[in-house]
Amino acid sequence: MDAKKITEILHALSSKIDKEKEFLTELDNVIGDGDHGINMARGFKAVDAKIDTLETEDIGEILRTAGMTLVSTVGGASGPLYGTAFMKAGMTMSKKTQISLSDFLACLNAAVEGVKMRGKSVQGEKTMLDAMIPALEAMNKAIEQGLTSADVLKCGTEAARQGVEYTKTIIATKGRASYLGERSIGHQDPGATSFTNMLEAVYDYIT
Ligand code: ADP
Ligand code: MG
Ligand code: MG
Repeated sequence: MDAKKITEILHALSSKIDKEKEFLTELDNVIGDGDHGINMARGFKAVDAKIDTLETEDIGEILRTAGMTLVSTVGGASGPLYGTAFMKAGMTMSKKTQISLSDFLACLNAAVEGVKMRGKSVQGEKTMLDAMIPALEAMNKAIEQGLTSADVLKCGTEAARQGVEYTKTIIATKGRASYLGERSIGHQDPGATSFTNMLEAVYDYIT
């Protein structure tokens, strides 16, 4: 997969987030400040515009640019976190003009490490990590089993969705939702949901 396809995938993420923005905002209304969908849609709109001005075959540069754009336009907690995720992913792809499935997983691994570092967070705190980490693990396992790209992405998407379900059962200990303490139980995490939406968009793109 080349730079042109990566640009198309980023546009696909953007339109998926745009479709889901009301729902994401509703989720954030319950356990946060009701801006997650709006924040993310604004950021990805800016990514849409920015990546179309890039004239590069370097996938790393495209991902890094997307990350920097998210940091400067999304705001809130998720802007720096998703921004870091895309920037870290981009660093693993520096100067590369093709991305393989295992490169994609290296990107996701770097993204997870970036979020953990920037967010000082770990799995089980009711954040985007609760979708990201299970998805990464499921996809690594699927690759080992020799599954096709589509099936690997399918496993990842399913694991991310289960991760979102899991966030309903736990107390938030990071981000605004942590102010609610036990009252955060029963509600799914907006960031885990938006990550799952992005993975769904990648899956839809490749199938
Ligand atoms: P804000 O809470 O500043 O309004 P958003 O609503 O855009 O930001 O994003 C909230 C999401 O950010 C949460 O649902 C959660 O998934 C994620 N999040 C918040 N803090 C952290 C953190 N420390 N580590 C990982 N993810 C986090
Ligand atoms: Mg919010
Ligand atoms: Mg906010």
